[in-house]
Formats: sequence, C-alpha cells, structure tokens
Amino acid sequence: MFVELLDCGHVFEVKMLDRYMDETDVESEDDREDVEIKHKLCPTCSVPILFGRRYGNIVKKILADFEAVKRRTFLSDVASIVQIQSIRKELRQIEGIQKRVLEEIDESVTSGRLTSEEVNTCQNQVTFLKFLGNLTTKHKITKETNSELHCKINIITSRIMRRRDCFSEQELKEFQEELSRTELLASFQALMTALESKSVNLGPEDENSVDALRRELDSGKALANQRRKDFIADINRIQQRHRLSKVAEATDFGSELKDMIVRSTNLTQGPWYKCSKAGHVYCASESTGEAGSIKCPKCLPESRQTAQSQQEPVPTPMKLSQLMNMTFKSGFVTPAGAKRKGRKHPTKKNSKTP
Ligand SMILES: [Zn+2]
Ligand SMILES: [Zn+2]
Repeated sequence: MFVELLDCGHVFEVKMLDRYMDETDVESEDDREDVEIKHKLCPTCSVPILFGRRYGNIVKKILADFEAVKRRTFLSDVASIVQIQSIRKELRQIEGIQKRVLEEIDESVTSGRLTSEEVNTCQNQVTFLKFLGNLTTKHKITKETNSELHCKINIITSRIMRRRDCFSEQELKEFQEELSRTELLASFQALMTALESKSVNLGPEDENSVDALRRELDSGKALANQRRKDFIADINRIQQRHRLSKVAEATDFGSELKDMIVRSTNLTQGPWYKCSKAGHVYCASESTGEAGSIKCPKCLPESRQTAQSQQEPVPTPMKLSQLMNMTFKSGFVTPAGAKRKGRKHPTKKNSKTP
C-alpha cells in the first residue's frame, strides 16, 4: 500500500512512512534524549509535512510545541520595567556628556514597548557614555584644556549613539578596546602636561617608559591587557617619583567594561528542544549539558547550572524580527538541502552574524 503526501505529492510505502513519522516516540523510557522541536519533512524533497489526516495527530503535537516556543520568545523579549528604570537613573548620574545625547537615550527607553534587545542596546550605550563622562570629569578635559582628546571623545560618543538594532560582538569588543585606549591616553597626556609645567627632567628608566607608551599609543594597535596594566603602573610610578600629586591617578576601568556590557540572552536563536522529563521547552543556547550534549536547564540542579552557564560561549545577538522572518514565517522549517543534523553542537552551528 502507498500513501501520497498532500504537501508535495511524493508517494511512499505506508509502513515505511509510518515508521518515519513515529520515529521520536520509539526511544526507550530511561534513555530518552530531549528532542529538537521541528517539523517532519518529506524524505524526498524536505517540504514540511503539515496536511493530511493520516498524520494529523503527530503534526498537531509538533505545532503545539511550536506554540510553546513562540510564547517563550515573546515573553522573554519584553523588556523589564526595572531595567528601564535603572537605565534612566544611571542617565541622570552621568556627568561630562552633553545633555542632548543623554536625553536621546532617555527618549528611546521611554518610547513605547521595547524588546529586551533594544533595551540592552541602550544599556550598553549608557555604560560607554558613563565611562567617557567619568574620564572627562576626572581629567577635566575641555575643548580649551585638551582639544585633541575632547574631539576624540566626541567622535566616540557619536559612534556610540549611531542608530543600530544592537551592538554586534565585534562592535562591543572594539568599543571596549577604544575606551580602554582612550583612558590610557588621557592619563598619559595628563602626565606629560604635569611634567612640562614642572620642567621635570626624566631619568633613563622613565624616559624609556614614556617613549614606549607614546609609540604604542601612536601605533593605534589594540593593546594587550597586561601591557596596558604595565603602562598604567609606569605612569603612576613616574607621577609618584616626581610628586605630581595634582595629577589624577592612572586607572584601569577599561578592563571592567567587559563585565558591564550586557548581551542578549539569545532565546530567539534556535534550535529549540522539548525536555523529555517534564516537557519544558528550552533553547539550545540555554542548554547546560556536558560535553556539548543538550540538557534541559530547568531539570538540572541549580548549582551546576550557574557554574556551567558562565563558561558558555556567548553567541552573537540577533534581532528578534530577523529571526521571526527566518523561522516563524516558514514554520521553523530548515531550508531544503541544509538539514540540521548536528544537534550535539547547537551553539556552534547557530552562531549567526546579524
Ligand atoms: Zn516531497
Ligand atoms: Zn525539563
């Protein structure tokens, strides 16, 4: 006996197709693995099997799982009021940055319903601006006292404020580097100004340090963390040696930026799984299994969960609307010819750049 799929017209032997459609239900109770939520596809042409009475119940179950996924992505994507309030509070505390810029962010976070991704973007803008503002007030940087640095800070500010859906991982890294470098530059210039005004003659050791630092800053290359720390120590050593007490101590707040940057939780990235124990629906990027295996985060003990999730690589944020186009419109169908077989390493397979 043969059966024709209404979705694409391909014909299969009934028993063979029945077995294929039932596949996920035959695994033994104790050795069950969480299954990826996806449509059954025609074995010949990969069109999703959605119609026809014969497999109606299986299809209905799959569609119900997709509904659960949708509910979770929508729920998780509404920004929390608490986060918005804390952004507004931070904005009010920022000094040394033009009011107009801060008001622009305030307007964005108060203009209607935002996704958590949009709020995260604002949060990162606030973090960066706060950093620049602190630098400006600490070293009293104005157009008159240091036009070069003042101008540089303005340029970075407008780059931070550029309209974007979200910061990409690359951008976040670049801003972090740029801000750290600016911090070092500000300390260096403050030191040089103080040395000049006191007409200090540097010894050979200090002279070497200053030359090396100047070369490094002029090169425009990314600075390794340790190297930056060494330079900061050099600056402070020279300041102490020559009793330049009026100069602010050189700091390394740039390295703290890494922990302050917020990243999207990426719930919107598939693939999604349904937990075999309790039916929890979870995303591969939240999964906390060992050695790349997929495990339901809700069913794991909490201690292990937090310890492991910190080591998880952070995938690139992706705009929800983009993902909606990719997945919901097409009913979560994997494009034909690009079958997703690698369920063992979902995070690697799904890191997409927006
Ligand atoms: Zn087909
Ligand atoms: Zn579970």
